[in-house]
Amino acid sequence: MGELKMRGKVEMVAEVEGAGKGEVIDKGEVVVKGDMVYAWARDPSLRKRGESGGAITALLKFALEEGIVDAVLGVRRGLDLYDARPVLITDPGEVEETAGSIHGGTLLLSKLFAKYLGGAEGLKIAAVMKGCDVMGTFEQAKRGMVNIDNLLLIGLNCGGSIAPAMMRRMIIEVFGVDPGTVEKETIHKGRFHITVGGERRAVRIPELEERGYGRRENCKRCKMKVPRGADLACGNWGVKEELVGEATFVEVCSERGGDLVERASAAGAIGVGVPDGACIKARKRREDMIVNLSDEEEKEEFDPLKGSRDRMRFIIEETAPCIKCYACVEVCPALFNTTGPYMTAFPGIVPPGIEFHLTRYAHVADSCINCGQCEELCPMDIPNSLIMHAIAADLQELYGYKAGEDMSRPKMALMKDPKSAPTSPPAEDLLQLRLR
Ligand SMILES: Cc1cc2nc3c(=O)[nH]c(=O)nc-3n(C[C@H](O)[C@H](O)[C@H](O)COP(=O)(O)OP(=O)(O)OC[C@H]3O[C@@H](n4cnc5c(N)ncnc54)[C@H](O)[C@@H]3O)c2cc1C
Ligand code: SF4
Ligand code: SF4
Repeated sequence: MGELKMRGKVEMVAEVEGAGKGEVIDKGEVVVKGDMVYAWARDPSLRKRGESGGAITALLKFALEEGIVDAVLGVRRGLDLYDARPVLITDPGEVEETAGSIHGGTLLLSKLFAKYLGGAEGLKIAAVMKGCDVMGTFEQAKRGMVNIDNLLLIGLNCGGSIAPAMMRRMIIEVFGVDPGTVEKETIHKGRFHITVGGERRAVRIPELEERGYGRRENCKRCKMKVPRGADLACGNWGVKEELVGEATFVEVCSERGGDLVERASAAGAIGVGVPDGACIKARKRREDMIVNLSDEEEKEEFDPLKGSRDRMRFIIEETAPCIKCYACVEVCPALFNTTGPYMTAFPGIVPPGIEFHLTRYAHVADSCINCGQCEELCPMDIPNSLIMHAIAADLQELYGYKAGEDMSRPKMALMKDPKSAPTSPPAEDLLQLRLR
């Protein structure tokens, strides 16, 4: 990995205050995998609405305008700032509505391609994705559920998200504020910030978590903080102080990602700057620190489950309240076939026998990516993700395999929904489809 060496002529742009080194990459220069740049939207409106200068929104808009993709899959605010909604956009004028980060947006986008978008067959889509979304998309692609060649993945660094109900509770109980009056929430430098009546207040995330609030349990264990499986990995870590909120730090993770940055810059859609060595090091330190914390968290949670008897007892006790709603099966990016005979073991019997749980766990045994969805959506609060990830972590260590990192195939738990692939609607119908 290296920082971007401006290859050839560069022009100065100065619309972002503090970006003394703002530059435009000239057409024909090459931005390659491993390059790192600061980037921001040159359109002032996108810059203002964006979380860190709106580069992602500008890149998405550019990709749509130029016909690089047919559609954009992003996330936008719904009823309020605790309501994150996936949206498929084909009109470049509408991309702006997705600008900004929703930290209470605990969606997983990976299964939407197969479920609603014909597996992206015949449809080129730019999708904005956190680490878990990218990993889930690889797992789907391995199972033939999405054509990953048709996806342009704009990765978001992610230190973790907060479940919407938890965020509301935290705002009431920690800040003593009505969640409905919060104008903005954000996470910066390890603190959770809210803005109320134009005033910003913040609490350190470790302090929140010591008090039982904060990020989802799976996010605390997650080590995919910088999604390098995507074409670009964007985030605020490593952005120098003067540019905080004004620019995003982009790591180029593929030639396709480099090409997008280069073309968007040459066309004047984004401004770019070169981060200095100190900023690159600061970003790396931040990533290492949070990954180390995830390791510690994982150890603390998994150690009590190490013995097979203890783990079995834990599974039996914890899964006992299951109402067999199938939410955990529906949402899992590595699991299919809700109506298969193994999934409908003992139809009608609630709670289901332990076989139901052992079967679904077995089906994702080495493919769980720790996205947390099976736990988040479980109406009975069963710690599915903890159980699954503990099993998968052992198997992945045994096989030297890391689920979700790339397209390498798992050793055992690979299954595909036999019904899905042939029933994909044609691409032209999909362009009419909006996930609202
Ligand atoms: C939950 C979350 C946690 C983050 N944590 C970190 C971190 O720890 N370190 C770091 O360096 N950066 C983090 N980021 C990224 C950072 O907040 C900015 O998104 C990034 O710097 C890009 O800024 P921008 O102005 O270019 O993006 P914008 O132009 O504002 O575009 C933001 C894009 O993010 C998408 N988006 C918003 N919320 C979600 C969501 N919940 N899930 C999926 N997509 C979403 C929108 O659809 C939009 O396309 C996080 C982002 C999110 C959503
Ligand atoms: S989501 Fe929870 S209640 Fe529903 S089937 Fe899965 S484990 Fe059972
Ligand atoms: S088992 Fe749960 S945590 Fe693991 S990939 Fe499936 S939904 Fe995500």
